[in-house]
Amino acid sequence: MMKRTVISAVLGLTILGGDVESAGVPADVRSGPLKDLNGYFPFDPPGSTEAWAKRSAALRLQTQVALGLHPMPEKTPLKAVIHGKVAGDGFTVEKVIFESFPGYYVTGSLYRPAVPVAGKAPAVLCPHGHWNNGRFLSESEADVATAIRTGAEKQADAGRSPLQARSIGLARMGCTVFFYDMIGYADSVQVSYELAHRFKQQRAEMNVAAGWGFFSPQAEGHLQSIMGLQTWNSIRALDFVEGLPEVDAARIGVTGASGGGTQTFVLAAIDARPAAIFPCVMVSTAMQGGCTCENASLLRIGTGNVELAGLFAPKPMGMTAANDWTKEMKTKGLPELQRLYGLLGKSENVMLHDRTEFPHNYNLPSRMAMYRWFEKHLKTPRPAPEEEGAFTYLTKEQLSVWNGEHPAPAAGDPEAERRVLRHWSEDASRQIGVKPSLVDEALPVLAGRSWSEAGVCRWEVGERVQRSGWLEMKGWIENTGHREAVAATFLYPDQWNGSVVVLLQDGDAGAEAVVKSGAAVCLPVLFSEPSPGTPARARHVEGDRDFAGYTHGYNDGVIKRRAHDVLSVVSFIRGHERKPTSIEVRAAESHVPEGALAVALIPRDVVGKAVFAETAFRFASVSDIRSPRLLPGALKYGDLPALLRRAAR
Ligand SMILES: [Zn+2]
Repeated sequence: MMKRTVISAVLGLTILGGDVESAGVPADVRSGPLKDLNGYFPFDPPGSTEAWAKRSAALRLQTQVALGLHPMPEKTPLKAVIHGKVAGDGFTVEKVIFESFPGYYVTGSLYRPAVPVAGKAPAVLCPHGHWNNGRFLSESEADVATAIRTGAEKQADAGRSPLQARSIGLARMGCTVFFYDMIGYADSVQVSYELAHRFKQQRAEMNVAAGWGFFSPQAEGHLQSIMGLQTWNSIRALDFVEGLPEVDAARIGVTGASGGGTQTFVLAAIDARPAAIFPCVMVSTAMQGGCTCENASLLRIGTGNVELAGLFAPKPMGMTAANDWTKEMKTKGLPELQRLYGLLGKSENVMLHDRTEFPHNYNLPSRMAMYRWFEKHLKTPRPAPEEEGAFTYLTKEQLSVWNGEHPAPAAGDPEAERRVLRHWSEDASRQIGVKPSLVDEALPVLAGRSWSEAGVCRWEVGERVQRSGWLEMKGWIENTGHREAVAATFLYPDQWNGSVVVLLQDGDAGAEAVVKSGAAVCLPVLFSEPSPGTPARARHVEGDRDFAGYTHGYNDGVIKRRAHDVLSVVSFIRGHERKPTSIEVRAAESHVPEGALAVALIPRDVVGKAVFAETAFRFASVSDIRSPRLLPGALKYGDLPALLRRAAR
């Protein structure tokens, strides 16, 4: 343990205390383990409506940016096809195909009441979760028998497909119901199930500058994910139902369980159209969604599913809990959502159907709760049933949208995948070209911090040595708000001219010349990964799946953390009692990306001058998904040149 002197200020040299024992380097939370999707994600509702208005706007933006939907892609013609009507008892079901992006097909079943309702009808979107074969689900006889024995179901056909049961139940209540396929399920074949939900290893042929695929460093650079595409498909599904002649656009509901619950609350978070939602067995402070289709870089940094679901407040949200990761929702998550809804004056609009005696499900008791929720909040033409009516299970042959007249597109088609991603990025690039402020809006999300969030910093001195002409001080800039620490050396000239030069570089080359010119010098040592690990590869969360979203969806990457350090350094200098008259940042080539990312966020009246060394580095040259320089979103928003333009002064 070292003896050292605590002083309040590095530049002012006011000695407050005597020698004290110290534990050493200030704590830095970033030296701890990475957070992953199995972490703890509590929600702390704000104390005022103003605070929530601000927080919810920021979180909504973060969600849109993370999902690759900022800007929202241009809505191209759906070219919807509805065909092959099958009549059931009290309902009809039709086959639907539309294009969410040109040439990319969304498929599903459209359930309608057999007898059209008088006036306009409510509509309900039914995203599904990871149930085997999704829309073609057929549970085994043994599983159906168990469901009936345990009270989860009463009828065999509903047990065979609770997904069909809910669509039919809602149609019988007078709703128009669109039950659409998740990517890679049932008739959604262009991007395969294996790729979308079981991705494990990077594909060399898809890790290329032009014509990249999902999960590649390029896709991360453009914030293109399966979750983003799935959310876009849901937005287009809203467009589709909204365009149906009988649908009342003011009465649209969304409900799904598990991964379908994720889709439900994420869609509702960023699209204003749903009027009531019912996400089942998903919203909780525990596991956040295990699949690649439920994760995206940047999405859950500083937040979690409970708060994301809260973005729908104060509109009506019913949820269910079961004996899974939602089993503690009643005491962890629900009370906080109730506080938020109470704050917004709509306590009655949030509800939990807590049935933890059942395993993970969307079973009959949950459906009955959902029917009642939508009866009340969508004002369904017919009431929720006392008993869910029987129906005859519809086979894959009856439900498949593809036939001779509407042939299926190629399955697992890398060209279709490339086409989607190319269209998506070209559209974003065109919109950003027209409106560059989109970049400025997204930058704090990319960086994980804005200037106003830089944090309050203090100096913790390590050692001081008087040199000839200046004082050399080594210590740490401790960011107390963020619980981070940056090791730094300050050179403080005996005759200080009031300016401070921050040198972002390895070593102290050139520092002496600057201090001799009369400016104070700051030499920070920016964040680097704690051992183990080689400098060339950043840490990642445990697991054998090579998807950046599992790490970058919960943690700031190395390059962001280094930029945070620059913000801390400048924030400390700016806030110092000696009030420097000017702050300049100079970055050596090795430090340009993080320096530019940070300075791009700092107002010109704080850092008045910035000098960046010439560099050939571009984020586009990052070809390893585990590179410490992987910055999700960097390519979409203009790469290093866009940062340098904003950092220039
Ligand atoms: Zn999935």
